[in-house]
Amino acid sequence: MYFSDILIIGSGISGLSFALKVASYASVTLVTKKARADSATNLAQGGIAAVLADNDSYEMHIADTLKAGDGLCDEDVVRMVVQDGPERVKELIDFGVRFQKDTDGTGFDLGMEGGHSARRVAHSCDLTGREIEQALLAQVAANKNIEVLENHLAIDLLLESRAREKEKSGERCLGAYVLNRETGEVETRTAKITVLCTGGCGKVYLYTTNPDIATGDGVAMAYRAGASVANLEFVQFHPTCFFNPNVKNFLISEAVRGEGGRLINKNGDPFMLKYDSRGDLATRDAVAQGIDAEMKESGADCVYLDISHCEGDYLRKRFPTIYSTCLKYGVDITKEPIPVVPAAHYMCGGVQVDVNGCTTIPNLMAVGETACTGLHGGNRLASNSLLEAVVFAHRCAVYVTQQWDTISDLPLPEVQEWRVGKAELIEENVLISHNWDQIRRLMWNYVGIVRREKRFELVRRKLSAVLEEINQHFYDYLLTPDLIELRNIAVIAELIIDCAARRKESRGLHYMVDYPQRDDKHFGKDTVIHNQ
Ligand SMILES: Cc1cc2nc3c(=O)[nH]c(=O)nc-3n(C[C@H](O)[C@H](O)[C@H](O)COP(=O)(O)OP(=O)(O)OC[C@H]3O[C@@H](n4cnc5c(N)ncnc54)[C@H](O)[C@@H]3O)c2cc1C
Repeated sequence: MYFSDILIIGSGISGLSFALKVASYASVTLVTKKARADSATNLAQGGIAAVLADNDSYEMHIADTLKAGDGLCDEDVVRMVVQDGPERVKELIDFGVRFQKDTDGTGFDLGMEGGHSARRVAHSCDLTGREIEQALLAQVAANKNIEVLENHLAIDLLLESRAREKEKSGERCLGAYVLNRETGEVETRTAKITVLCTGGCGKVYLYTTNPDIATGDGVAMAYRAGASVANLEFVQFHPTCFFNPNVKNFLISEAVRGEGGRLINKNGDPFMLKYDSRGDLATRDAVAQGIDAEMKESGADCVYLDISHCEGDYLRKRFPTIYSTCLKYGVDITKEPIPVVPAAHYMCGGVQVDVNGCTTIPNLMAVGETACTGLHGGNRLASNSLLEAVVFAHRCAVYVTQQWDTISDLPLPEVQEWRVGKAELIEENVLISHNWDQIRRLMWNYVGIVRREKRFELVRRKLSAVLEEINQHFYDYLLTPDLIELRNIAVIAELIIDCAARRKESRGLHYMVDYPQRDDKHFGKDTVIHNQ
């Protein structure tokens, strides 16, 4: 049994930024399931959107975000996030993040991305995420009040009602059960406040740009604990993932199209204007759907992104990682087009939170990709997610600071340790790997970029059999990281289907062949689900 004032789950931009803001008055334990830098944050390429140029304005950034969100954003949240953006970018610089400067070194070298009406993306070439992650990790390492535990995988949340089995009233969150991957033991980690910063769920799909950690654990844990989750039908597919069987999840940044890259088919013909009047700079959903349609029409395995008309030196400097990775696999982007396919990229929905990051369970908060804040609505504008993470980490920290006297006065009841029962070591890993594969293929084939109502029932039936088997494994076998994550991706798959099946219209990232129109009268609201 362990105690700290605040338990943070996840070491991406959300968890690290939040930790740095509360550690002056509270003891903080930050658990993370692999190495500390293993996160989507570390992979972010394009950058962080904020109004930083004279020819830009809050109103323009707000309008672009609302347009992408397709009628589902919470305008007050959008306004708050956009207006707080420049301050949070300055704070990242104070934490040591080095954003690229413009040529005379006075301002930012701002990138242009799809859906934005101005250059507003602060970047560190195409390694922005790594730069942010490293700077925040260095700050955290220097802070004695923050304990970082790598290889600690949160399994489930501890709830007050479970601690006092007979009293069903208070459902306050008291921390989490956490698997220590090094010892194989389940630790009971109690805290006054628990913050989910667990990132996205791309691994629920066969093709994804996300790192392996992205198994939707925070959403699955919160849902099992009874918190409301929302808008999980809105999964963003990044249109341009490098297509090569030997490369896992390598993203070709939106910024390549922003800097003049053109999508062409196997005959070398540009095609995006056939699908959207904004052409190659349309929002991600429109481009992913355009590529999907083009690939289906031609039967090709991929399309191509051509930036070879730009000067070689400029490309090597502006996109060093993309240039060197593609070259390693035989594609010289200065001379030839890059083969690309769409892949699951970002979860717009998540654990429903208010403007301070509070979930529907007292003392449980959620920040970053795991949370559904109202910023993205039906579709996320490129580079708005790092922004959302830092703004909400700040809001959440301000809220906790203001409430701290009340929060810290409440005594924690005794909680039960994890019970192993008669669980045994799992002998055949194929039991797990087969189910992983099955879920990811089902989701890719039937609940991907283009959806049909009939298929939902089919996937549901198959999934419920898999879930039953997984739940049985959970009691029969000693827990392993793969089993814990498998249970979570199965829950996320069910939630995506449930949300998608409820929304009988097409909007933002949710495209239904059976209901091709947007229907504001019936569906102009969030899809909210909770576990009864
Ligand atoms: C390839 C790529 C490029 C991107 N480019 C951009 C971009 O240019 N601009 C932009 O705004 N956004 C971008 N995004 C999205 C953005 O990076 C993420 O939305 C953002 O970094 C999420 O931050 P986070 O802190 O919420 O989660 P993450 O950074 O994903 O961190 C999640 C953390 O939680 C931990 N964790 C998860 N489950 C558990 C558990 N059960 N127990 C313990 N720890 C757990 C993980 O190990 C990890 O440390 C990109 C995403 C990808 C994948």
